[in-house]
Amino acid sequence: MPRDVRARQNMYFFREANERIQQPGGDWRSAQRLVFVCECSNLGCRAPVYLTLEEFRLVRETPGQFIVVPDHIHPIDERVVALTSSHAVVTSVDVDEALMTEVRIVER
Ligand SMILES: [Zn+2]
Repeated sequence: MPRDVRARQNMYFFREANERIQQPGGDWRSAQRLVFVCECSNLGCRAPVYLTLEEFRLVRETPGQFIVVPDHIHPIDERVVALTSSHAVVTSVDVDEALMTEVRIVER
């Protein structure tokens, strides 16, 4: 399997793992930061990322966004959406292209 495909699957694996951290009925207004897992494309990365539930929810409102440690941004195929001292939000250039392809299919 090509490395970039495995890296992409890795990002989605940790994205799903992070989704499970959300507790049903959790308090979105809590300022307490929870530990999520870095969703970067580095295989084997288990770096902790600290976000409040509200910050996490805002990131998840936009499909194709990933939470990574600021040091783990991959500038070649990711675009930085937000950057704080504790985490960065990146969007995959591949996902952007996939969305554009979908739009083109719909227009046909
Ligand atoms: Zn990472």
